[in-house]
Order: sequence, then structure tokens, then C-alpha cells
Amino acid sequence: MRRLLILGGTAEARALAEAAVNELGDRLEVVTSWAGRTDRAPDVAGDTRVGGFGGAAGLTDYLRTEAIDFVIDATHPFAETISEHAHDACVTASVARLQLFRLAWALPPSGRWLEVDDMAAAARTIGDLGSRIFLTTGKQTVNAFSDVENVWFLVRLIDPPAEPLPLANCEVATGRPPYDLEAERALMERHRIDALVSKSSGGALPEKIIAAFELGLPVLLVAPPPPPPGMRVSHVDEAMAWVRTQI
Ligand code: NAP
Repeated sequence: MRRLLILGGTAEARALAEAAVNELGDRLEVVTSWAGRTDRAPDVAGDTRVGGFGGAAGLTDYLRTEAIDFVIDATHPFAETISEHAHDACVTASVARLQLFRLAWALPPSGRWLEVDDMAAAARTIGDLGSRIFLTTGKQTVNAFSDVENVWFLVRLIDPPAEPLPLANCEVATGRPPYDLEAERALMERHRIDALVSKSSGGALPEKIIAAFELGLPVLLVAPPPPPPGMRVSHVDEAMAWVRTQI
């Protein structure tokens, strides 16, 4: 049996695990790894493990002790650290690695959108776009907006926050993708949102962006960090084609 480690935390990782187990389960053991950031346990085909490895060195040890033959990094484009660690660990342990990395969105020129380099730039810019802002960049980014003045935030999080958010004026809306277009539009209308802030995450265009464009709202996008070097594909079927070459 060959052993594949999928670094997950995304819908693409789940779809890849399912495709690999369904097609090659008699010759391939598939382990999907999750960081464990959200409360809900992952529901994924094959074996799973949850929690950090302990840096690049810990991941290198894991690859060796678990006799992993090849790795697919299907993490989110903004999960910069784990992708760097995967690169370094696979080089050290001489394990083949592929990145399943989403294609950037092709946004309509008619849409009102602006891309900035990072969260700090988004925080500096957002007050120019309005005073009622829908912030959808995730719990780890909320701190970056703590000094923004004269803005009320609707903050979308997957789980309710354990502690109050570091924002003077805000309300939390919990939810988990996929979202419904009608519901996204209604949420923005109900809260009289002036502008949306989102990571420029690539892949399928999310309903929140479509809804914001339909409502004529400006969308402030934060660009993803550059991925580490290495082979890269952007679709699950391309990743599966690579998997077949490895077994
Ligand atoms: P990150 O900053 O790149 O990673 C921080 C640490 O979390 C890593 O050093 C690693 O700990 C652990 N980790 C991350 N992904 C892991 C995985 N798949 N399996 C085991 N350990 C993992 O990551 P992040 O931005 O916090 O994202 C965490 C996870 O959520 C990722 O798996 C990502 O795919 C998913 N996700 C992230 C976003 C986002 O916007 N960042 C959005 C949707 C989903 P050790 O150093 O101890 O190994």
C-alpha cells in the first residue's frame, strides 16, 4: 500500500480524499490532516488526524514515522505557514509534494472591487468605503481592524468567539460555508452594509461577493501571500492525475 498525506482544511481537500479513496482505495491509504481550528470534527473519506505537527521538523518526523510516500498540500491559500512547512519537510524527507492551489477569481470589471496587499492595508482603507462593514476575513484577522475608528462591523465567524472581539462597534454573525445567495443578500441588506471585506481566496466565486456586486456594494479584497515553490495544480481532477503517477 502507498500512503498519501493530504493537508486539508478546505472543501477541495475533502473532495480529493473522497476521489482518492473511491478510485484507489485498494492500493492507497489516504490520511487527511486538519489544524483543528473549528469546533466541528472533519467529515472526510479515509483516515484523518487533527492538530499541528510541531513545525516543519515535526512534520518531517511525521512523514518518516508514518511512512508517507507523497503529500498533497490542499490547504487554504492564506494558510501560509503550513504550506511553508510542507515545502521544507518534503524537501528534508525527500517526499514528493503537489500543491492544490485555487485559481484567482476572474472578477467582472463592472463589479466595484479593490485589492490590497494585506490586512493592515485593508484596515487603513476600509473607512473610506463606508461606516457599516461586513468583515469576512476570519477570526485570526479581526485584530488587524481594532484601531479602525467610526466603523461598525458585522463580523462573520464559523464558531461564536470565546472572548469579546477587539472591536469597539461590532456584531457577530456565525455561519459555515456554503452560503446561499439569497441569504447573503438579505443579510447585507438587513444590516445596511456599505462594503464587504474578504480574503481573495480564489476558486469558485463565493455567494457573498456575487451578492455584494448585485447590491452595488464595494468589495475590498486582501491578496493572498505567494505560495512556496513547487508543482501546482488548481483542480481536484488534476491532482488525481498526479496521484495516479505516484502509485
Ligand atoms: P497556518 O497559519 O498556515 O498554520 C498555522 C499552524 O497550524 C501550522 O504551523 C500548523 O501547526 C497548523 N496547521 C495548519 N494547517 C494544518 C493542517 N492541515 N494539518 C495540521 N496542522 C495544520 O494556517 P491557518 O491560516 O491558521 O489555517 C489553519 C487551517 O485552516 C489550514 O489547514 C487551512 O487549510 C484552513 N483554512 C484556513 C483559512 C484561512 O483563511 N487561513 C480559511 C479556510 C480554511 P504546526 O506548526 O504545529 O504543524
